[in-house]
Amino acid sequence: MLSEETLERLVDAAIKARLNAYAPYSNYCVGAALLMADGRIVTGCNVENASYGLSMCAERSAVFAAAGAGSRTVHACVVVTADGGTPCGACRQVLSEFHDDAHPMQIIAVTPDGTTVMNTWLRDLLPNGFGFGGRTF
Ligand SMILES: [Zn+2]
Repeated sequence: MLSEETLERLVDAAIKARLNAYAPYSNYCVGAALLMADGRIVTGCNVENASYGLSMCAERSAVFAAAGAGSRTVHACVVVTADGGTPCGACRQVLSEFHDDAHPMQIIAVTPDGTTVMNTWLRDLLPNGFGFGGRTF
């Protein structure tokens, strides 16, 4: 479970990342902040495209940025949306790729004013997620 201070840092980072969202089609701006096992905080925002299917969620943007920087274990993910939306199914699956069995991944949905709408574990959002060898939480 995150400390209050760490949660605050993640929420602030996600709110700032949301300001960079590129969402001219949906106007649904999303910011995400990941707490990595090595202590880094990595952020992402959604990036839409005129060819809608090419758009990318904030959570996956953050995960891919972290992996590309060599940080591959996520301990927590804060996502900020106007309505407290939670990560989509695709993002839940991608996040599960970078979880640590010994450290359950905390998922927190927050609104831009900092109100926590949901605070739970990835294993509860994605029961029986896909993985080779029948990996499950
Ligand atoms: Zn998503």
